[in-house]
Amino acid sequence: MSQQQFENFTASTLYCEKCRTAMPVRERLLLVLPDKEIFDYLCTGCGSSVGRREITAGEKLMAQAMARRRSGRSATLHQLTP
Ligand SMILES: [Zn+2]
Repeated sequence: MSQQQFENFTASTLYCEKCRTAMPVRERLLLVLPDKEIFDYLCTGCGSSVGRREITAGEKLMAQAMARRRSGRSATLHQLTP
């Protein structure tokens, strides 16, 4: 089991000032804090940092829950008991 399998293959693009165009980026875990994680986005063309994103613990849990339910967007309905 290699840890590389955990790598994200999300094909997101961000504008790179060096390349002067939107480039596919590589997500890189930059910093882990008790309540959040900070990701760095690196341009796959020139390798420069083109963005940064903070994911709070709550957002991470939501993302994991979303990843588990792959079958579309199913809204949770709250039933009102009469
Ligand atoms: Zn670039």
